[in-house]
Amino acid sequence: MLSTMPDFPLTITSLLRLAEGQFSDREVVTYIGDGYRRQPYAELARDAARLAHALRGLGIDGDQRVATFMWNSAEHLAAYLAVPSMGAVLHTLNIRLFPEQLVYIANHAEDQVVIVDASLVPLLRPLLDDMKTVKHVIVVGEAELDGAYDYRELLDQAPDTFDWPELDERAAAAMCYTSGTTGNPKGVVYSHRSAYLHSMSVCTANAMGLSSADRVLPIVPMFHANAWGLPYASFMAGASLVMPGRFLQAEHLTRVIAEEKVTVSGAVPTIWGDILRYARQHEDVDLSSLRLVPCGGSAVPESLMRALQEEYGVRVVHAWGMTETSPLATIAHGDSWELRVTQGRLLAGVEGRIVGDGDRVLPNDDVAVGELEVRGPWVTGAYYLDEDPLKFNDGWLRTGDVGRLSAHGFVTLTDRAKDVIKSGGEWISSVELENALMGHPAVVEAAVIGVSDERWGERPLACVVIEGTADAAELREFLADRVPRWQLPERWSFIEAVPKTSVGKFAKRELRDMHARGELQIITL
Ligand code: AMP
Repeated sequence: MLSTMPDFPLTITSLLRLAEGQFSDREVVTYIGDGYRRQPYAELARDAARLAHALRGLGIDGDQRVATFMWNSAEHLAAYLAVPSMGAVLHTLNIRLFPEQLVYIANHAEDQVVIVDASLVPLLRPLLDDMKTVKHVIVVGEAELDGAYDYRELLDQAPDTFDWPELDERAAAAMCYTSGTTGNPKGVVYSHRSAYLHSMSVCTANAMGLSSADRVLPIVPMFHANAWGLPYASFMAGASLVMPGRFLQAEHLTRVIAEEKVTVSGAVPTIWGDILRYARQHEDVDLSSLRLVPCGGSAVPESLMRALQEEYGVRVVHAWGMTETSPLATIAHGDSWELRVTQGRLLAGVEGRIVGDGDRVLPNDDVAVGELEVRGPWVTGAYYLDEDPLKFNDGWLRTGDVGRLSAHGFVTLTDRAKDVIKSGGEWISSVELENALMGHPAVVEAAVIGVSDERWGERPLACVVIEGTADAAELREFLADRVPRWQLPERWSFIEAVPKTSVGKFAKRELRDMHARGELQIITL
């Protein structure tokens, strides 16, 4: 028999209603470099209504794509609420992609309108001619752009309430392209339902436990997997949002955290590494308001987590996810460091398994190593207009991440499938070597890649960025206490910075190319 419960639609519109209703007194604060702009959620909701009217006026009357090319700000949040709630699809463009990739994805998604921050107009302007479907551009702030609309002028002319339509929860709400795969970037399309359920999950105590007492600072960009879902989850919880704008340097971030009494903040390890170094150099840094720092995007070195906790009382919680998984899929709460350095436990709703050669499902015994596959209501089942059967396996997403799974659902990743190093038939985890190296006080960044070796097939090449003094022999000695001897790299390269991808991860492919072109100076021990 069927239940007596209705299929009440789970939509972003209902989050908007919370913002304009019971949480109308919560606030969004946008940092502008020398001060702040403040808006209660009631006003943000009115701006969302005005924006929806403005977009209607520009021809957005169905599921057309409205792109954003923006920093994390109140205006970007208004678009997060307005675009999906009016039935259109929000497409967050990653401002750090290469021009050709941006043109490709805007054309592929058939974006019709782009909302752009004035400071980013110089980046967007040269691409617009090639973005064939874009009809209108709306500029937030002051910048010269022929034919563009001024955001404030448009909104000032519009009514501050909107007759939000009834939506199907399965309808597309937002999309984000991932360049983590090979070939062209691929589009992941989130539904209202997936965004809603993901937000509920983020709000659980096993994840971030957000509540109306929190002040959340999403440092992770809103164009990267919806800022890890922090904006929507904050509307659901009634948490206030503090937006850093384009000020992503440690000096600004530490100031905002202290002045705005931020309680939860999400960013990749590189940013927290910068904050730690800055805090060590400046006595007046106060991070005491932070109760939880979810961190992921790449493996978080244990040394970083420990330092922030022991020196500043900041609890960093390791989390794993992908654009394809909305993104939060695992998070590492636990009393022991043993658990906290894992990628974390699968959230309720997300199922995982480890798959070995020939698609054999391996035991969840925290020993067997294979590719992690996941599925769930906020894990994509396909890419937008892009067949990639290799990424999907009978309803499961092949993550491309290699690791193990414990009986209690904790995932430990040892590598990306394409980054593992096979030496004499045995796997060496580049991530383990990197994490161990980053525990050395002189090492700022370390990336390890596999290079061909006559005898062993492949051996690790450690590329390190150091501050102060440490030579290869010393670093090797340091590693000797931490990893098996046969894994110790004999090849070392001291570089100025590890090349990064558009979302700030180590671009190991770029390092491999540099190595192939003979651009890395190598010291052999
Ligand atoms: P993206 O879609 O750009 O967010 O990239 C997702 C990929 O980032 C994953 O497939 C992992 O390879 C990597 N990643 C994310 N979080 C972690 C983590 N906590 N530890 C290791 N790798 C991670």
